[in-house]
Order: sequence, then C-alpha cells, then structure tokens
Amino acid sequence: MKQREQRTLKIAIDGPAGAGKSTVAKIVAKQLQLFYLDTGAMYRAIAYKTLKSRVPIDDEFRVSEIAKSTEVILDHSDQRIVWCDGENVTLDIRCPEVTRAVSVVAAYPGVRERLVELQRLEAKRGGVVMDGRDIGTYVLPDADFKFFLTATLEERAKRRWIELKKAGKEVTFQEVAQDMEQRDRLDTEREVSPLKPAQDAIILDTTGLTVEELVAKILALAQEGK
Ligand code: C5P
Repeated sequence: MKQREQRTLKIAIDGPAGAGKSTVAKIVAKQLQLFYLDTGAMYRAIAYKTLKSRVPIDDEFRVSEIAKSTEVILDHSDQRIVWCDGENVTLDIRCPEVTRAVSVVAAYPGVRERLVELQRLEAKRGGVVMDGRDIGTYVLPDADFKFFLTATLEERAKRRWIELKKAGKEVTFQEVAQDMEQRDRLDTEREVSPLKPAQDAIILDTTGLTVEELVAKILALAQEGK
C-alpha cells in the first residue's frame, strides 16, 4: 500500500461483543501503521462516570448531560490508557457493573451524538482502524474498508469467559453468555445506530478461526482492495 493512501486509510470493524474486533483491530492497525480507536471504551467511560456519580442509568437526561461534560481521552500508545476527566479508568471500565450498564447508556441519542463527534474528530488525525457497532453504518460511512465480524454466541461467550478467567475473575460461563446475549439484544434493537452490518461491509464469520487467520484474511482483503 502506498504511503499516501495509508495516511488517510479508514478501516471500520463492527460486530457483536466477543467477535474478536478489538484483538484484530489492534494488530491490523499496527501492521498498517494506522492508529487504533476503541469506540466501545468511550461508551464504557460514560457508563463508568454515570455509575460513579450515582446517577440512575435510566435517567436519560442526566446521563446525556454527563456525556456532554465528561472529557474522555484515549491514549494512542501501546498502553492504551483510557482517561475519564483525568482519571485512569482503563481497568475500571471493564468491570461487570460497567459492562451491564453500557448498552443502556449507549442507546441514548445525546450520548451517541457527543461520542460520535469525538470519534469523527479523531478520524481526522489520519489513517485509522476503528472498532465498534456503528462505525461502518454511521461514524465513518465513507470508510475504505468495512468489516463486520460475527461468531456464534457460544463461541463469543467462551472467548470472553476464558479471558476473564485468565484475569482472575470469578464468573461462570452462563453468566458471561447471558450478559452478552442481553447486550447484543440492546445493541441490535435500539433505535439510534443499531448494531448491523453496513450494506457494503464484508461479513466475516470468525467461528473456529485463530486471530492470526483472521488478521491475515483482513489484511489480504484490504490489500487487494476487496
Ligand atoms: O466494544 P465494547 O464491547 O467494549 O462496547 C461496549 C458497548 O458500547 C457495546 O455493547 C455498545 O452498547 C456500546 N457501543 C456502541 N457503539 C459503538 C461502540 C460501542 O453502542 N460504536
């Protein structure tokens, strides 16, 4: 790929929880020398701030106000620190409470408006691999490549459960699968920017694929221009 093209290349990677988006997006970004933006981390930061402020997550007005007044900064170094009003929330935003609240908060138009604005500003910095739920359909409709990753709920929940176990978290497979199913449902059924593949997205079923196989597939598709 030519240098000039690379500087402006935009790759959107969408899909449900546990489909492998962030793992793959990080590697693809590194290989293509683009920066990586984890948009889910931004929604998580707002959910975290809402819970921390003891604002009920069903209070749409107050949650939207929080989104407007909170400074969310994603560090683009390899450490990928997430800052929320100056606080390092990288680990806190992955806790079960935030994971359960995030899809409720992410359904509010006021929250989405604010975060999409930040995401589009970030995309102006240069070539980017962005992962989320609505990148190909709404945030970057003109992305050069749009991938939509899927996998069975069982496989996705298994991957997440293994990750959590490795991190020393005490959760059962059933709990992980139930939470994931509920989150997928909220993300798919919400009115604003629901989770769905863009019409021009390349749909990749990641069930049974290794990370290396998936990365190779995406790089090959991106390099051959589909
Ligand atoms: O990617 P991750 O699983 O961390 O995203 C957490 C949640 O943030 C998703 O379940 C979804 O509710 C929300 N989200 C979103 N739009 C995005 C990225 C994430 O609604 N672009």
